[in-house]
Amino acid sequence: MGSIGGAYSPNFYDNKHYINGEYVTSKNKETYTVWNPKNGEVISDQMAIAGEDDINAAVEAAEAAYNGAWSKFSGQQRAACLMKLAAIMEEKMADILTLDSQSSGNPVSMIATREKNYIITAIKYYAGWTDKQKGDYYPDDDGFVKIVRHEPLGICAAVNPFNAPVATFIFKAAPALATGNVLIVKPSEKTPYGSLALAPLFEEAGFPKGVIQCVSGGGSTGAILASHMKIRKISFTGSVPTGQKIQIAAAKSNLKRVTLELGGKSPAVIFEDANLDNALTWTVNALLARSGQVCVAATRIYVQKSIAEQFIEKYVAKVKEAAGRLGDPQDPNTGLGPLVDHLALERVTGMIERAKNDAELVAGGNRKGDKGSFVEPTVFLNPKAGSEIIEKEVFGPVSVVKTFETEEEVIKLANDTEYGLMAGVFTRDVTRAMRVSAKLDAGVVGVNCVSYMNMQAPFGGKKSSGIGREFGEYALRAFTEPKTVLINMSA
Ligand code: NAD
Repeated sequence: MGSIGGAYSPNFYDNKHYINGEYVTSKNKETYTVWNPKNGEVISDQMAIAGEDDINAAVEAAEAAYNGAWSKFSGQQRAACLMKLAAIMEEKMADILTLDSQSSGNPVSMIATREKNYIITAIKYYAGWTDKQKGDYYPDDDGFVKIVRHEPLGICAAVNPFNAPVATFIFKAAPALATGNVLIVKPSEKTPYGSLALAPLFEEAGFPKGVIQCVSGGGSTGAILASHMKIRKISFTGSVPTGQKIQIAAAKSNLKRVTLELGGKSPAVIFEDANLDNALTWTVNALLARSGQVCVAATRIYVQKSIAEQFIEKYVAKVKEAAGRLGDPQDPNTGLGPLVDHLALERVTGMIERAKNDAELVAGGNRKGDKGSFVEPTVFLNPKAGSEIIEKEVFGPVSVVKTFETEEEVIKLANDTEYGLMAGVFTRDVTRAMRVSAKLDAGVVGVNCVSYMNMQAPFGGKKSSGIGREFGEYALRAFTEPKTVLINMSA
């Protein structure tokens, strides 16, 4: 089928992949189960796990698409397709993300705001880049003209996390297609629906079949993609351990290019001269968005001693109040949904229980209700140095708050982590903002903001939080490779 029609029901996707412009029955007959996190009920136990034959079929179609009409598309034609995709998404995003929320638990109240902002902005932003891949030129001062072409990599694959499936799909597809690549997307086995529903919209927007495909499956499918000899790049977003496996598989197969957007344990540093209301708004929102299941969530709050009492009292009150907004993600009035599944519930509540021995619990700390995977937003004070709760990513609505006295002290504390994705510094002193932002070991530093990503500027992690950058012009570099053409002018 060319469009998803009325296929907003999860079971439409049982046993299916989207390969070469159509939903096809999986060749591999193994299946996995998807649960509804608001009540723990099974949505489907018939979701396909793409095996070698399925991936080979997708790669064959991708190769044909890459060498076919798509290779002749001008920049303007690629832009027109992306702009049409943006228009289609404006119309269908609510249906696609409502379907997706059945397994992600992401509240539908985010669709018109956060989701729309990221998805539509990314598509339109990269539509503007399609005809601006100009490359370089160097004159024949030494007898050779040097031309540098920015060429697409070819068949790329995206391996995506569960938390923001449709946005992640678009973050990878828009720059990949703007630069003329073809892309096979594998959403997380926890949240496959929005991505499977999105795939055919690319053909509706004018992209040839095979340019975008979507395969269903878990880690085993991701591993096949990562080691496939014809795939030239993996764009991965997910956890550090999986990122390491992908890097190894890529190196052991064909040295495919790899970008890794991994986890974080982002610090927010609040100095005594900060606008407190602003700091509260950003740090509270940073903890609660997608119930803490956000890579850039500000989960370590460092507050200067002189204002600590005042800040902590208000921060804790706001977090406690947010527990009342936990609810049915499909209800448009719900602000906070459940964690993605019972495994996440067990992991997060386990970390909370252990943290009770290492820090003072001042908000939340419990599962909410006995149905579904709802967890109260939780705050711990003064964690012991080296404890799990200050070192490990929770990927749930749990933060730790610690006080500090001096700038030097807090920079050391903030950087005392293997992660380096995002950091925030809250101060009204511009020189301090410049000094501290330069010293924080993070790919993105917010000044008087945190846990915010902007499409125009590079996004990605330092240290173990990743390799490479998405967003902005940098994502285009990650989907192209320079080719130097040397012209001998004396021949
Ligand atoms: P995950 O690593 O468990 O899974 C991510 C994807 O990898 C899934 O599609 C999974 O099926 C696949 N996978 C699993 N094993 C694989 C293997 N051996 N080879 C290839 N693929 C494999 O991560 P998750 O739980 O879905 O997502 C949460 C993590 O993602 C957190 O650590 C979070 O911080 C991170 N994240 C990072 C960003 C970012 O932009 N930096 C954004 C969102 C989430």
